[in-house]
Amino acid sequence: MENPYDYMQTALDELSAQGNLRILPHALHEGRYLYAAGQKMLNLSSNDYLGLAADLELRTRFLESLTPEDFLPSSSSSRLLTGNHPAFDELETALARLYGAESALVFNSGYDANTGILPAIAMQDDLILADKLVHASLIDGMRLSRAHWLRFKHNNVKHLERLLALNASNYRHVIIVTESLFSMDGDEAPLRELVRLKQLYPNVLLYVDEAHAFGLRGPRGLGCCEEQGCIGEVDFLMGTLGKAAASAGAFVICRRVIRDYLVNHVRPFIFTTALPPVIAKWSRHVLHLLPEMGERRQRLDQLARHLRRALREQRIKCPSTSHIIPLLIGDSAEAVRRAEDMQRRGFYVRAVRPPTVPEGTARLRISLRADMTDEEMEQLITYIPKM
Ligand code: PMP
Repeated sequence: MENPYDYMQTALDELSAQGNLRILPHALHEGRYLYAAGQKMLNLSSNDYLGLAADLELRTRFLESLTPEDFLPSSSSSRLLTGNHPAFDELETALARLYGAESALVFNSGYDANTGILPAIAMQDDLILADKLVHASLIDGMRLSRAHWLRFKHNNVKHLERLLALNASNYRHVIIVTESLFSMDGDEAPLRELVRLKQLYPNVLLYVDEAHAFGLRGPRGLGCCEEQGCIGEVDFLMGTLGKAAASAGAFVICRRVIRDYLVNHVRPFIFTTALPPVIAKWSRHVLHLLPEMGERRQRLDQLARHLRRALREQRIKCPSTSHIIPLLIGDSAEAVRRAEDMQRRGFYVRAVRPPTVPEGTARLRISLRADMTDEEMEQLITYIPKM
């Protein structure tokens, strides 16, 4: 009889040999900086793209507005039981109003939203067509659903067009799934083209994950759908609150009938304790300020353009059109070594390895932040080619 723990040790040893073993890093935070192993580093690995999570003044103003009665650190139940505090209704009303949509529904996380919504809406006579590079939470959502699913080549409208032409009439519904701004490549989906394809068929729905674009893109920071003028054409517009919005949780913008259906069918919505109401209040607080944060968005855009230009000048290939800048390395162990090198130079950049990214495409993922200085950017640029 084999010791049931042995296979775990073997699996860990294999990951280690491939350079893919993950361990929890220890770090202390101080605004945009992070301290680890006695070193102070600019944090270029978080999703605090606008620097709002690091903004002490923003937090202080919010805390000053709270009373002990408002400061509810627990919902104490799911929203369908007693956990539906007014803070959730206020947040959802504000979100729906901001998007000019019929309704919004808040989830405990983006992972919950993606793994919950897809199985709830896609049945065995449905087909999901997902971009090849969508996030793990969307893949898990597809796996949990009883629908058939296929992947189209990354951002390849022609491939999607062919798959739709071949399959649409054989299924009850087809759901096109994409991220708007891809988390690991930093490039963007051709949303208007996806909308055009969807509109060719009466039974096709569009699901867009705006996790890395919410707060950042479009005149009011609502995301790429706002930027590309297609909010109203997207059936499920999902955004996360734990990234640029500096809070926690996620939301979907949708028609009222969809919201009512989701409330009745999404298991990670029904069978879980709701987020702490104070988090919903904080999200509402940030949401109120986001549309006016054009300056921070412009700053981030300017920094990103500057770095991408510098990479082009040094003939370093990079697919990004945004503030997420991947530096392709390939080998996992080499990517870790180079990340450690960047860290020694004061930039907390981490290696992203398989299975988060496809095999052989380990990379350094630089998440730019609006609150970094010009000097920090210039220094970063000088270090990159010396990696
Ligand atoms: N979608 C995408 C594209 C993501 O990158 C992430 C998180 N990295 C999620 C969903 C999950 O969101 P959350 O962290 O709120 O669970």
